[in-house]
Amino acid sequence: MIRDQEILDALLDSVRRFVRERLVPAENEVAETDAIPPAIVDEMRRMGLFGLTIPEAYGGLELTMEEEVRVLFELCRTSPAFRSVIGSTVGIGSQGILMDGTPEQKAKYLPRLASGELISSFALTEPEAGSDAASLRTTAVRDGDHYVLDGTKRFITNAPQAGLLTVMARTDPATPGAGGVSAFIVETPSPGISYGRIDRKMGQQGAHTCDVIFDGCRVPAANLIGLKEGQGFKTAMKVLDKGRIHIAAVCVGVAQRILDDALRYAMERRQFGRPIAEFELVQAMLADSRTELYAAQCMVVDAARRRDEGRNVSTEASCCKLFASEMCGRVADRAVQILGGAGYVADHGIERFYRDVRVFRLYEGTTQIQQIIIARNMIRDAS
Ligand SMILES: Cc1cc2nc3c(=O)[nH]c(=O)nc-3n(C[C@H](O)[C@H](O)[C@H](O)COP(=O)(O)OP(=O)(O)OC[C@H]3O[C@@H](n4cnc5c(N)ncnc54)[C@H](O)[C@@H]3O)c2cc1C
Repeated sequence: MIRDQEILDALLDSVRRFVRERLVPAENEVAETDAIPPAIVDEMRRMGLFGLTIPEAYGGLELTMEEEVRVLFELCRTSPAFRSVIGSTVGIGSQGILMDGTPEQKAKYLPRLASGELISSFALTEPEAGSDAASLRTTAVRDGDHYVLDGTKRFITNAPQAGLLTVMARTDPATPGAGGVSAFIVETPSPGISYGRIDRKMGQQGAHTCDVIFDGCRVPAANLIGLKEGQGFKTAMKVLDKGRIHIAAVCVGVAQRILDDALRYAMERRQFGRPIAEFELVQAMLADSRTELYAAQCMVVDAARRRDEGRNVSTEASCCKLFASEMCGRVADRAVQILGGAGYVADHGIERFYRDVRVFRLYEGTTQIQQIIIARNMIRDAS
């Protein structure tokens, strides 16, 4: 749903200009230094990008899902590490509070998230609990008006920068699986929280992940999301349903950029006396990429519209995440092929994109987990 086309167009124009004038020129520096320049993060704050999804009442832009994906199509025509700066706050880090938090929790935290004063992270994965997230072992034991958290969370995006973590922990050890899990808002730094070293990743330099270790970390009972124990896994799954459409939109944006670069190269590079874009075998790679990209874009917009209508989009969100992330990998692979040797060396940036996009098929549920969700929903609906 688009509420006001004119206002959205103005936002899309300013995001487009920001990407072209500020982000694209900084791509190499970010890859080399493994850091996003603070001036760029400040500009993101001023543009309101941290508050895209947060209600206007709390200082955000309150975009609908369709508006959000259209912004992501534009914002992600550059290194995906830039999106990652706002990604956990706009998406998985804030949405648990927004969806299931109490009015007091929302009033306390959402304005600071919307302004970008606080960066948030979503802490579900553990060393022994990845795809099987419901088996998580981090415990939260009630002690007076606090809970005491113990355990380790793994691969937590933006944890080194975060001022707030949404942490899924087991409040009921007697209930294995999802039922015993609760979600907490944890402010950082706090006594009892330490961090592992920053992970050395295949791609997306500038976006940081690390372990977060809880050792007797006392969290006020008032920070149990919704003040209800046993609801945390449901909150996490609702957050991920939305997050999967978000990631699929990211894949569309990045794939569009990769394909633009590959097309430009194919039109300029000459072999056998002609631009390689005139060879039909190269055209096939361009056309297949364009076709799959269009399909993914249509899927993402459709799923976003359905979600805006209040429909259950669990299946559609997984279809989008599965197809768009695999599509993005294929587009990046074909782009390397189109650039030939130039695609393999660092100077043209395509090998960097090839590495950057690999993680889309892994996080927020691997391709296999999306397949399982889709098939399980199909069987349930048919029974
Ligand atoms: C860069 C990065 C950022 C991340 N950010 C966050 C974050 O901010 N917060 C967070 O909580 N987590 C985060 N994660 C964790 C991410 O969500 C997990 O890595 C992902 O869910 C997969 O879990 P795993 O790595 O433990 O793999 P595993 O679960 O061990 O899976 C390994 C392989 O087995 C397959 N597999 C597992 N179970 C099944 C099954 N039942 N059937 C078929 N195949 C199966 C998987 O598909 C995969 O191919 C991040 C990860 C990365 C790499």
